[in-house]
Amino acid sequence: MSKIVPRVLLIGVGRFGVSHLDVLQKLQSQKLLSISGVVVKTKEKKRELEKELAIPVYTQLTPTLLRNVDGVDIVTPYPTHYSLTKKILPYANVFVEKPIAEKEKEALELARLAKKYKKTLMVGHIYRYHPVTQKLRKLIGHHKGRIRVEGEFISPLDTYRGENPSLEKLHFFDVLDYLLEKKPISIWGHYLDPKRFLEVSLRYPRKIDVVLKLGWRRNEKIRRLVFSLEGGQVIEADFTNNIINITKNGRRKTVVVDNKPTSLEGELLAWRDVLLGKNKQFPDGLTGSRMVRIANRSTQTIKKPRFAVIGGGLFGAVTAIKLSSLGEVHLFERHKDLMTEASWANQYRHHMGYHYSLSPETIKEIKVATKDFESYYEKSIVRDFPAYYAVAKHDSQVSSREFLSLCKKMGLPYKQIKLPKEVLNPDEVSLTVRTPEAVIDYECLKNDITKDLKGKKVKVCLGHRVTGIRLLESGEKKLDIRLLAGGATSKKFDYVVNATYANCNQFCEWLDFPARDLEWRLKEIAIVRLPIKKPIALMIINGPFSTFVPLGRTGLYTFGDIPLSIHEIRTGKNALKILDKKRKTTKSRWMAMQKRCLKWHPMLKKAEYVGSMFVILTIERGEKANDARPTQVTYHGFGCYSILSGKLITAVTVAKKIAGTIDNSQFV
Ligand SMILES: Cc1cc2nc3c(=O)[nH]c(=O)nc-3n(C[C@H](O)[C@H](O)[C@H](O)COP(=O)(O)OP(=O)(O)OC[C@H]3O[C@@H](n4cnc5c(N)ncnc54)[C@H](O)[C@@H]3O)c2cc1C
Repeated sequence: MSKIVPRVLLIGVGRFGVSHLDVLQKLQSQKLLSISGVVVKTKEKKRELEKELAIPVYTQLTPTLLRNVDGVDIVTPYPTHYSLTKKILPYANVFVEKPIAEKEKEALELARLAKKYKKTLMVGHIYRYHPVTQKLRKLIGHHKGRIRVEGEFISPLDTYRGENPSLEKLHFFDVLDYLLEKKPISIWGHYLDPKRFLEVSLRYPRKIDVVLKLGWRRNEKIRRLVFSLEGGQVIEADFTNNIINITKNGRRKTVVVDNKPTSLEGELLAWRDVLLGKNKQFPDGLTGSRMVRIANRSTQTIKKPRFAVIGGGLFGAVTAIKLSSLGEVHLFERHKDLMTEASWANQYRHHMGYHYSLSPETIKEIKVATKDFESYYEKSIVRDFPAYYAVAKHDSQVSSREFLSLCKKMGLPYKQIKLPKEVLNPDEVSLTVRTPEAVIDYECLKNDITKDLKGKKVKVCLGHRVTGIRLLESGEKKLDIRLLAGGATSKKFDYVVNATYANCNQFCEWLDFPARDLEWRLKEIAIVRLPIKKPIALMIINGPFSTFVPLGRTGLYTFGDIPLSIHEIRTGKNALKILDKKRKTTKSRWMAMQKRCLKWHPMLKKAEYVGSMFVILTIERGEKANDARPTQVTYHGFGCYSILSGKLITAVTVAKKIAGTIDNSQFV
């Protein structure tokens, strides 16, 4: 080899080959290398190029040609990379565009051949030479804590030519390999749009989780990585515009990264140094094989996906029903029956939004969800009674004016009325409105759901407590299950939905996903018989007031009194365990509630106490301020979802949303 000016041969002058040629010519003009020739596929292309270039153009790769160069730059379509590299390695060093091959086995073979023939094999993982990557290395290279990465590598749909998205768009796999200097310990991928658009989850040691979206979508060109570092710093890298935004403690700093030299110049200069023996840190055959392995693993097709839904409350059950059209579903419930926790012990208001006068967002969510719920479970909705909302004169967080203006703005129908003073003391309220808000009949809903589960062939596993989950290297999730009847078992799944409500953070602990900042409240719902002939619901809002609602079609009422119905509020690690224990022994406060609420409802004197339900209400800490009750769906990556429900009415919408993101057309 000429030690000063390596002689290189370029194979392929298609779209990207031309860019290589430009840079090689620039380096040649700087006397950094010399171009021995260009190899093309057809005679026409040869003739065409010979007119333009003062460089020899060939259509054949002969041993003589190869023996007379120091390195060969392969810029051809990726299905040819393996065979061309294999052919060249006995004679010359190789730079091959990514992916090095289509199969990991082939890639490893090339790495072995390079070693055997004592040749260098560099793979064109160009993004590690991107100036943004170089800057990122300085920013996150030393971070020791947990990192969550989200990324998108997306091209416009009209540029799609039938390539495999994971092989074609594997740049970020290499960027992460380069930045983290670690191999993924778990790889999982699924198509979001058959063949063209993919989501890949990667877990690296030291609590680093990555979710990437790759492929072709709409008219988009996005190359973006977002690193959320433990400690609160967020680093957003935009590779298209050479910008990095760094957000810390609410302050955002934008860094514009200089694009000189360009990624390709940086990469080909690095290759020149490899040829001269000056660069030992380059993406070699083994690096290339690791990338192909990730790409292949993330596009494995699942013939019939296996779904686990944990938690047989309303949300788990409805999600299981929806998922059943996509594959085999197991629904695990630790108790002997379905819907025995929050889906049993609640006031079953079929919310329209009146209750959320401090949270328009919650009202909007209700509006979106109503049609879905009613189209499935209309039969269980009880509508034949009026529901009244009253605004308290004292200590209310909302005024009558604000309440009415919100109703108007959100399109919530109402009629101002006055109730008999035995039912509602007019001296204590500034406004009372009649609304058409209904309730749901628990028994009827449970019957419908049980029938649906049976009809959809969901494997309902009652008395099955999930006690742990492991993420396997294959990306599958292995559930450990303890049976109420005795014994234990375990089972692997492709997708897992966590619908355990109060318990939802345990799932995150098992799988090392970030947990929610939760608050748990031990709540009592008293069940009473009221001295009124026709059923009504009556809610005084917003603050420390009372609520009573018909208990389905039973003739009884559920009764709540904030603050007395909240027996205890806890946050922190053992909060749930402590409250769960107390739930079994807590004594009713009905008498105190009755006494306190007489000033609003004198008729309570004659109310008959029937019993109480104790339940753990679970909310995110931030929701306390405005009483918001959103239903939150979290996608953790690796086909794992968590639901933290806020209101019953959202159950069908949420189930549809989860099923909708799992496109069944990939399972062929
Ligand atoms: C006091 C109160 C009043 C409410 N009033 C209303 C209202 O009027 N209207 C309204 O729309 N919403 C209301 N809500 C909210 C509503 O009740 C909840 O959003 C909803 O019922 C929660 O359903 P879920 O399926 O998510 O949870 P749950 O019904 O609690 O189901 C979770 C299930 O997971 C199971 N589980 C947990 N861990 C495991 C494990 N490791 N293995 C197997 N199974 C497990 C549990 O046993 C449980 O059955 C109220 C809530 C409370 C607490």
